[in-house]
This record gives sequence, structure tokens and C-alpha cells, in this order.
Amino acid sequence: MAVCCLLNASRAALGRWLPVVAGRRGANFGRRLCSRPAGRAPGVSQRTSSPTFGFLFDIDGVLLRGQLVIPAAKKALQKLTDSKGQFCVPVAFVTNAGNCSRDGKAEELSNALGFKISPDWVILSHSPLRLFHTFHNKRILVSGQGPVAQNAKDLGFQHIVTIEDVRKAFPLLDMVDQSRRPKELPPPTTDFPAIEGIVLFGEPVRWETCLQLIIDVLLSNGNPGADLSTVPYPHLPILACNMDLLWMAEAKMPRFGHGTFLLCLESIYKKMTGKELKYEALIGKPSTVTYRYAEHIIKQQMECHGWMSPLRQLYAVGDNPMADIYGANLYNRYLQAQAEVSVTAMVADIQGKERHAPKEDSDVSLSCVPSCQSILVCTGVYSRHGDMPADCNESTVETVFHGHRDFHFDPDLVEASHVVRDVNDAVELVFQKENWERE
Ligand SMILES: [Mg+2]
Repeated sequence: MAVCCLLNASRAALGRWLPVVAGRRGANFGRRLCSRPAGRAPGVSQRTSSPTFGFLFDIDGVLLRGQLVIPAAKKALQKLTDSKGQFCVPVAFVTNAGNCSRDGKAEELSNALGFKISPDWVILSHSPLRLFHTFHNKRILVSGQGPVAQNAKDLGFQHIVTIEDVRKAFPLLDMVDQSRRPKELPPPTTDFPAIEGIVLFGEPVRWETCLQLIIDVLLSNGNPGADLSTVPYPHLPILACNMDLLWMAEAKMPRFGHGTFLLCLESIYKKMTGKELKYEALIGKPSTVTYRYAEHIIKQQMECHGWMSPLRQLYAVGDNPMADIYGANLYNRYLQAQAEVSVTAMVADIQGKERHAPKEDSDVSLSCVPSCQSILVCTGVYSRHGDMPADCNESTVETVFHGHRDFHFDPDLVEASHVVRDVNDAVELVFQKENWERE
């Protein structure tokens, strides 16, 4: 089944890139959260009982609509904080936005909501790239807009090449816009080190330039000044963030997102080579990699704040079935599959050691990693005009699949665990389910 393939692919990607979460690099990564003198991040409650659940909040359509704050968001945050405005449960803000910095998004959220939001709690579409250490020492071409090069540097990439760098080094490659063609034949560039990988951060400007130069880099195996011989395949590794085909801005009709750009790139590559463009990893919701990273952030937050109870449940709150709900449900499938593998391995181990092995079976199942429930709110994609659908359950079925090529449609994955009016109702629902009361 297609989704099984995807699950396997996600597992492979996770296996390749995320073991560092628990290892030495993971510890270093968490240091920013844990290094505060008091051992407790500002804005976090000192409540005595520890939460065993955490929230993953989408931002657009859940907390904000463009520049506007959704009123329920302030009510929800009041419920999540104590009388001093300090959070009493772990939260992470998971957005597919990427043409900005984490600090900038945290500041924007803090100003809009009136609560101090730490950058450590904000996960942008590219944030998990921090863990892709294998690429950090490679010479990487980056595509996108906004502070792309700075973001890449902040994530750990050390040798960054921009599209503009390639264009300047090889001015004869960018020929669509006649006004940008060189007036004279430039001298050939001979000192341009080979590009070893590509990171697609988000939708760029001047798509024709980016599409052309990225294809040139792929077909030339990272040497766009070279003569073309045979097409290298597999091609250079590509990491892509944010697969959203469309997004809602102030206009009444949806706008092209990075998923549309990827669709163009994939189509051109296949048309030119007859082969599929392949990704080393796809990051951002609904990717499992992003949810695994978010879980890591939640656990780091709990550990650093002295909340010692194990995390047993994640609640992902979002307005977009194809990104938020699909992603949370897919991650839940991944968790369940991991648990099954774990149980099978442990039972086999027990049976190998003790032929009369016991009732540990039931105990083993308790060691399952947390599950992730999806909560759909009706303040964003499904309620563009501010009205709640008459039957929210009816609205969770997509008739046209806008997901990425590598994420096949499965109706079960866009069916939310819960559908509520807004984020405030989502928090109330979770508190009720968890029997959690504010102190
Ligand atoms: Mg949203």
C-alpha cells in the first residue's frame, strides 16, 4: 500500500538522520534549552504536578489569520499559562512557514498574542535540517527567499552557495529574461568548486532562473560550467522544505506555495531525463521527520523544566487536513509501527532468553512511544469566511489531492481524531481528556 511505502521511506529517513537526537549531537542541540542559569526557561510554570502530554500548535489559521489574532488563541493561551503568564504544559508552534527566522517568528507571535514565546518552541519548515549533520560540511546550493543564506548558516551549513552566486559565476545560464542577459561574452569561470547538494527552503522569486539553474546543477553533477555528458543518476542529494501546493493570503483565491515550485522542478527534470527527481528528505508538515523533531522539542522542554513524567500523548492542533491532520495521523501510524517493532523485538528477545517467558508481553506494550492525536479547528482553511461548517466531519474529506507526489492520498489520514470550533475548544477538550486542571 502506498502509505506503507511512505511510512517505510519516512522510517528510513528518520533512521538515517535522527539517531543524533538521542546521541551526542542531540545533547548539544538541547543545550540552548537547558543552559539557562536557573535550569528553567523563562515563561514556564513551577507547578508541582507534571504534564504527560504536549501540544503542537499550527500558527496560521489556528492562532493567527495573516496579521490578525484569532480571538480564541488568547483564551487558549490563558488556559495554558498560570497567573504569572508562565506555561504549565509543554507547547511547540509548528508551522510550514520558512521564509523567515525562528527568532523573528517567535517575536511576531509574542507581539501578536501578548505572551512570551521562546524561539526554542518555534519549529519552522526547515528547522529539522539542524539535525542533518551529514550535509553541514558539504557545499550546498540553497533556494528560497528571505534570509535563506542566514537561515542555512544558523542551521549549521558551513559552505553555502546561493542561486545568485551561480548566476554571477555563470551568467550565460540565466537566459529567459532578456534584460538580464550579459551584453558581452563573459570570461569563463574556472574556480567554482563543485556543488555537492541542494536545499530547497521555500518558494523563490524569479522561478525561471531558479528552475533553470537547479536543473543545470543537477544535470552537471554540481559543475554548471561543464559540458554536459551523461546525466548523473542518482543525482545530487536534494532536501526540500515545505510541500504546500497552495496557501491562503489576503486574496480570496489561494496562492502558489513551495509545493507548486517542486511540482515544476519534478516535471521539468522528468521531461528532460526520463527519470524521477528524488528527495533525500521532504521536511515540513506533513512529513514524519518534522513531527519526530517536534516531539523531541517537547521532550527537551519537559526535561529542562523539570517535568519528569514521561510524555504519553501529543495533540497536534491545526486547520489544514492535508498538512496538519495528515501529518499528525501519519506520525501516529509511524509511532504505532515503531511500537509494534519494539514489542516484537523485545518479545523475541525475552523468548530467546527464557523459553517460559512470561507475561512481560503486556508490560512491554506500556513502553510504547507516545501517540499523536490530531485536532482540526475550523478557524482557517475550512472556514475562510469565519463560519463554522454545519458538519465539520463532512469537511475533512479532500476531493482533490493537493499533497506532494510522494505523499499518497489516504482518506483515513485526513480524518481528524477530533474536530472542534477553535483552538480554545481544542485546549479545553485536551484538558478534559487528560483530567488536567489549572492550578
Ligand atoms: Mg494552518
